[in-house]
Amino acid sequence: MNIIDLKSIKKDYRNKKNVITRALRGLDLCVKEGEFVAIMGRSGSGKSTLMNIIGLLDSNFEGEYSFKSKDVKNLSGNKLSELRGREIGFVFQQFNLLKKADVLHNVLLPTVYRSSGGDKKRAESLINKVGLKDKIRNKSNELSVGQIQRVAIARALMMNPSVILADEPTGNLDTKTAMEVMDLMIGLNKEGKTLVIITHEQDIAAYANRIVLLKDGLIDKGGKRR
Ligand code: ADP
Ligand code: MG
Repeated sequence: MNIIDLKSIKKDYRNKKNVITRALRGLDLCVKEGEFVAIMGRSGSGKSTLMNIIGLLDSNFEGEYSFKSKDVKNLSGNKLSELRGREIGFVFQQFNLLKKADVLHNVLLPTVYRSSGGDKKRAESLINKVGLKDKIRNKSNELSVGQIQRVAIARALMMNPSVILADEPTGNLDTKTAMEVMDLMIGLNKEGKTLVIITHEQDIAAYANRIVLLKDGLIDKGGKRR
């Protein structure tokens, strides 16, 4: 089953001087449940724009998007954020950790709008899973870049999403730490999570089932699969 099904997606940005950038120009992409897709392409090719749309963060685009066979194009803001919170985990630089909060509270962040006795236990077990048990009370400014990325992964898993989206999850990491983070991600995929990651690194992309190459707002290679 396709968990993500995008048809003829177009996205323009317009600046204050009314100059239009055509970031996506009619792109088709399907991702199957359980698939691991790596998105590659030069800077400016539309990767982040595509991820924001896939992640239900941007609904201001042309074309059709169905997520788990549900048309998400016309969902209200509330319905959209509810769906996003339940189904999608983000490892994005724009969702940085809170510097003054410790690891536990950063991982608990997605649950702040509900209260459940099980949340703390789940957060602790996820922190354990990403290998940060001994750092649980450390603030994020007391962690290494690799450890911060592990916290971000634990946080992304908090709501048990079916899809994990990551924008250059190994971008600032040395080779060894990058491999450790990738091992974690691959483990999640083996457990059944659908994984879509943006990466610039061929050796990271090599772990994926499929590499999708973006070029000038269109898919150059590895696109449509129905
Ligand atoms: P990538 O992530 O592959 O580097 P982006 O999706 O960020 O590419 O950007 C695609 C194109 O859209 C680029 O030309 C970029 O300059 C432009 N763009 C991205 N975000 C905005 C924005 N908020 N306003 C105007 N132009 C934007
Ligand atoms: Mg980008």
